Amino acid sequence: MQEIPIVLIGHKDHGKSTLIGRLLLDTKSVRESRLKEVKEVDESIGQKFELAHLVDSFKEERENEMTMDTTRAILKGKERNYQLIDVPGHKELIASMLTGAAGAEAALLLVSIEEGIREQTRQHLEIAKLLGIDQLGVVVNKMDKVGYQKEEFDQITERMKEILDKIGYSSENIHFFPISAWEGDNVVERSRKMPWYKEKTVLEFIEGEIKEPESFQNLPLIFLVQDKYLDECKEILVGPVESGRLKVNQKILILPDRREGEIKTIRDITGESVEAETGQNIGIEICQGKKMLTNISRGNVITTLNSNIKTSRDISGEIFWITAPSGSNLVFECGTASVEGQLVEPKVVNQGEKTYYRILLRKEIAVFPRSRTILGKIVIKDKGKIIAVGSIQ
Ligand code: GDP
Repeated sequence: MQEIPIVLIGHKDHGKSTLIGRLLLDTKSVRESRLKEVKEVDESIGQKFELAHLVDSFKEERENEMTMDTTRAILKGKERNYQLIDVPGHKELIASMLTGAAGAEAALLLVSIEEGIREQTRQHLEIAKLLGIDQLGVVVNKMDKVGYQKEEFDQITERMKEILDKIGYSSENIHFFPISAWEGDNVVERSRKMPWYKEKTVLEFIEGEIKEPESFQNLPLIFLVQDKYLDECKEILVGPVESGRLKVNQKILILPDRREGEIKTIRDITGESVEAETGQNIGIEICQGKKMLTNISRGNVITTLNSNIKTSRDISGEIFWITAPSGSNLVFECGTASVEGQLVEPKVVNQGEKTYYRILLRKEIAVFPRSRTILGKIVIKDKGKIIAVGSIQ
């Protein structure tokens, strides 16, 4: 069964990990014994027990599989399961959301009623909007700290609505939840302490409102060449099928140089295959007539002959600046392509801002403007570190 990815966003310490812990616990997605173990460890080192430590215990378990500092906990729903994605640290969260490592279609934004709306709250929302994450729930947490008062909740939701509208969400379509992740009010169980709230709990929202991720299966073929290796003199290209599908004998186009070729073989983890679809990691051989095609490498994109995947070196769109450029050479990444270039606009960059951008690359790359695929996004690196991520328009 496919798990629906949901990323938890919001200012540090507003309760992201605690909410995940509470959801797991109250839906019995974790064993009682797990909770007991975590409590015992906390006690043995003289540490106060935190629901967040339950989430941390998953991190250790799955550490080897992870490329980023991301924890994915599985929430067991009635009909479907969900991946709750927790990324500790503001910069890490931004980087993993922006690069698609988090891969989420939906987000829960945590705002602590005690600390209020903060800079990271706004920034995470800007990024969610930039990435086209339209399935959003705003969770007003720590209601226990303000005596579960409706007035406080109403005040913060009014201010949040203004921010949401400014960023481009239509606030009347967004759900707001008054909760205490720590006490478990309105998360899975309806709260008796807030009789004034009659709408959905967080779990009811997740189960009833969040839609399955949009499939890229019907989009044009994008096979990202990640790597290649030699197998008995045959050159095998490996990578993910980001969108569309491909078949043996199909005619294809290699981008950005627009060479034509034909798919000779496809291999997946089970062995040779005649076709592959979105989401699969495969190895392929490409030929041109009787000849094997070589000189294809990381950064190239394979698509169909009539595809509307473009190539360009003049790229623009909207971008979010995690930090301002240092003045050294910038590297621009799209899919697996990585190319040097020049930032034409904006002339002045302020950290934490979203702006229009235009870049001129040294050479063309494959792009799929205004799409939610990886070829619709650009990442800027400065001395190896991600400093900005934007959409391609
Ligand atoms: P994160 O950084 O957003 O993941 O925040 P955490 O989940 O680590 O929570 C930060 C702190 O707030 C911890 O000490 C939690 O115990 C506390 N906390 C989280 N939710 C609640 C809540 O509903 N009520 C109260 N009183 N404290 C909470």
